[in-house]
Amino acid sequence: MRFTCRACGAKATVTKNHRISADYAELYISCSEVLCGHRWVESVGYKHELAPSQLPIKDSKVFRLISSMAPAEREELVEQLKKELPPVMEVKPNGPRIIRRSR
Ligand SMILES: [Zn+2]
Repeated sequence: MRFTCRACGAKATVTKNHRISADYAELYISCSEVLCGHRWVESVGYKHELAPSQLPIKDSKVFRLISSMAPAEREELVEQLKKELPPVMEVKPNGPRIIRRSR
C-alpha cells in the first residue's frame, strides 16, 4: 500500500502497524520529506466480501484454530455455539422450517 503526504505530495512510509483486531489496523505514517515532517494515522479494515473463498472448510483459519483446541475446549465451544447461534433454517417447498432450535 502506497501513501502520499497530503501536505506536500511526497512519498510517505508506514512507521508502525497497530493491529486493533483481526479485521482492523491503524497505520502510523510519516512523510519522507524531511522539511515537511507531516505524520498521521490511517485506518485499514475489512469491509465486505466480493467472492467467498473456494478452499475446503478444513483449510480455513477457523477450522485450524478449532483443531488446535483441547477436546474439553472444543466441547465447550460447541455448547456455546448451540446456545448463541440462531436456529438453522431449511427451505422446503412449503416454505422455511426450523430444523433445530437452540435453547
Ligand atoms: Zn509532506
